[in-house]
Amino acid sequence: MMGAEGIAVSHRVRRPSVLPIQIPVPLPLLFVNSYRLGPEEGPWLLVDVGMDTEPARMAFRAHWNRYGRDAYQAVFLTHYHPDHTGLSGWIADELGVPVTMLADERDLTYRVFGPGGRAGDRIGDYFRDHGVPTAQNVRILENHNDSETYIHLPDSMLGLTPGHVFRLGEESWTILKAAGHTPSQGLPYRADDGTLLGGDQILPRITPNISRWPGEPHDPLRLYLDSLRELRRLPLRVVWPAHGPRIDAPHARIDEILQHHADRLDVMAAVLRQGPKTAYEVARAVFRPDLSPHEWRFAVGESLAHLVHLEALGRVEKLPGGPPYRFGVPGSREGRSLTPAAPRPGCGS
Ligand SMILES: [Zn+2]
Ligand SMILES: [Zn+2]
Repeated sequence: MMGAEGIAVSHRVRRPSVLPIQIPVPLPLLFVNSYRLGPEEGPWLLVDVGMDTEPARMAFRAHWNRYGRDAYQAVFLTHYHPDHTGLSGWIADELGVPVTMLADERDLTYRVFGPGGRAGDRIGDYFRDHGVPTAQNVRILENHNDSETYIHLPDSMLGLTPGHVFRLGEESWTILKAAGHTPSQGLPYRADDGTLLGGDQILPRITPNISRWPGEPHDPLRLYLDSLRELRRLPLRVVWPAHGPRIDAPHARIDEILQHHADRLDVMAAVLRQGPKTAYEVARAVFRPDLSPHEWRFAVGESLAHLVHLEALGRVEKLPGGPPYRFGVPGSREGRSLTPAAPRPGCGS
């Protein structure tokens, strides 16, 4: 354009430093959002990578053909789930840069999906102990083992501590720890303009799955609700989630998710007022009956997370006996007497 003195003034148009890359995944969600962070000329950080499938590799190749691939400084994976980590081995070979995660989450990734990881066996026992019938359990396990074929991790990953800062040119991205969906999910946050990569912690269209899994924290829902309240205190302006479109009203979305869990806790407590139930029976009462094996896995895990949290709030109790383990509202145990309450056993395995 022409300036006041008639001199041509070039306005350097800065591209947004968050560039979403839609990667197909063989899951009901269909896509995961990978992100390229950093100024247009680099250096860049690649966040999350999808599962190891040919369509995912093709999506990255197409993106690199269009936008380049030489200025990547590192890869950061938000959390251990296969749709975020599965392709990381291939990406590490292709880009030749370090793959990073928060250290605790990285350790969990290798425990679950690394060599010798037998997550499937533990999950089968776990679901049986919480009332899932054998035939249903077999279908859930088949589905679980299926997803493991899409995961190829690099031989090593760099472990970061929460608060780690990636400096990308003039941009600073701080990794915040956000627990609940997984124990140590890491979310890149740019304080300058309140931009957060939401990972699976804040999603626009569905509520993130909060499940209790063996070997993970006892009360993940408490961790999740605490984390959401913490994130809500940030001056967030925009959240880029790992699934679905950008969230332009992050505080309102966080409030909706908080309300969803408050409602779900009420519904599950009401179900137990009809009589003691296993986590599976609660899931059957609360969720649609026509769930896929993949969805059943999360329905049972999610029911258990709410039951454990209700127990911590003193609204329900885990009854003596089992497996299968049953939960009831206080006073619902059979043959209740005036003897003091039995100490609460830890939940499940
Ligand atoms: Zn996830
Ligand atoms: Zn995900």
